[in-house]
Amino acid sequence: MTRPSPFEDSLTDPNSFTITYELVPGQGAGGKKIDRLLEFARNAKEDGRISALSVTDNAGGHPALAPVAIGTEIYNIGLEPLIHFSLKDKNRNQVESLFFLYQREQFRHLLVLGGDFPKLTYYGQAKPVYDLDTIQTIELVENIKAGRYRYTGQDDSQPFSLQCGCVVSPFKMTESEQVWQYAKLLKKVRAGAQFIITQLGFDLDKYVELIRFLRQEQITIPTLANVFIPSPTVAGIMAKGGVPGVLLSPELAARMSKESKEQRLLRAAGIIAVLRGLGYCGIHLGGNGLRFEDVAFVLDKAGELQDNWQEVQEEAHSPIKNIWSLYKRDSEEQQKLRPGKRPGSRFLHQLTHDLFFVYKSPFARALGRFSIFCDRYKLTRTLFTVGERVIKELLFDCRMCGDCTLSDSTYLCPQSGCPKKLVNGPCGGSRNKTCEVFPDRLCFYVRFYRRLDRKTSIHGLGTQPILSPKNWALEHSSSWINYFQGRDHTGETEK
Ligand code: SF4
Repeated sequence: MTRPSPFEDSLTDPNSFTITYELVPGQGAGGKKIDRLLEFARNAKEDGRISALSVTDNAGGHPALAPVAIGTEIYNIGLEPLIHFSLKDKNRNQVESLFFLYQREQFRHLLVLGGDFPKLTYYGQAKPVYDLDTIQTIELVENIKAGRYRYTGQDDSQPFSLQCGCVVSPFKMTESEQVWQYAKLLKKVRAGAQFIITQLGFDLDKYVELIRFLRQEQITIPTLANVFIPSPTVAGIMAKGGVPGVLLSPELAARMSKESKEQRLLRAAGIIAVLRGLGYCGIHLGGNGLRFEDVAFVLDKAGELQDNWQEVQEEAHSPIKNIWSLYKRDSEEQQKLRPGKRPGSRFLHQLTHDLFFVYKSPFARALGRFSIFCDRYKLTRTLFTVGERVIKELLFDCRMCGDCTLSDSTYLCPQSGCPKKLVNGPCGGSRNKTCEVFPDRLCFYVRFYRRLDRKTSIHGLGTQPILSPKNWALEHSSSWINYFQGRDHTGETEK
């Protein structure tokens, strides 16, 4: 029998303020660090205010104790685990395999995220996987639940009950990065995300922005704001950009370096009171070097401040200078977006695509027949594939994945342009337009944004079709033949 879920009950109760706390297992199977995490869980259970403990999954791109280990112990303590499900280390088979395991362990909730790029470990860097992206993973869960995807031996007497949450960052410095974050959030919600947890941040105006955006888009799923209490050292690292996707102002880091622990805890209490006052239905708490007594102190103080949260709003706010905002100052009106600074650069590619790959064109019909003929014999297929490779490597730095999505990304190739090979929107790791993995390069999605039509809106981007996962059996084959044979993601053949 499935155990009740206090986390879900709290999320669905409009009068409840949901509190989760993030635990970060390190390397190794045991030791003092793990003992401290479990001690925290026992104290949290006794206290009763925290409805789920989240467990990170190879946080920071480093290998660590698998979250299922701590998750199971949390469950046995009587609390609910919220398992981080990071896609950097898993292919789709491993994803499904873990679904089965988590279902068996009676875990109910996953927080689906791409994850920080793998770091150097044994003999160098691990292979980054990202076989499915966050949207495709959430969609897979929903497809299993709805019976649209069935695996051998699926047992309908034990309904598949995993629920997926997703993350969003309202803390992006520039328009191109922020617009993509919100557009991708729309896709995650469309795919079936059941709750949202934000990136951590200290600029409260950006938390207000997210709430406004959700209301404007009529998204009513529960949203938890991420409140992190860094040590002065970690605050300094964050201020220098050392944690992907996290913004913390140098002024705040300098203040924190002079503060006592109690002052840092009181700041967090103020932030929680304000976020609750602003309309967030809960918080996702975290910090480094905190004991349960610290967290209990923060929650006590936040409760005391709650009725007069407006009085602490200014003090709790730590603005990031020159950060882009979606709304005009003190207004519900959106800024005018400025995508498409270089739309002309895709014009010729678009024209060629429309001529040769849209069936109503006679050129497309001719190319279609020719490619299907070439596919019959090994020699002609090889010559055709080499021809495609030469043209597309020169023009697009193509990697011959065999399932071309160039026309979905303004004729930029995500397989060569994005180190995580993301096709449905960016990760959260970019910083000041540059890529998390290669800080000397622009994020692929910033380049993409510059080539969009000038009338593009967030809603328009967020309602574009969700691209399906790659079929790896097509790798190194001709994507043109695959397209005309109906083998690629478009599934189109000549009518
Ligand atoms: S190119 Fe952009 S989306 Fe891709 S990994 Fe880098 S920051 Fe993330």
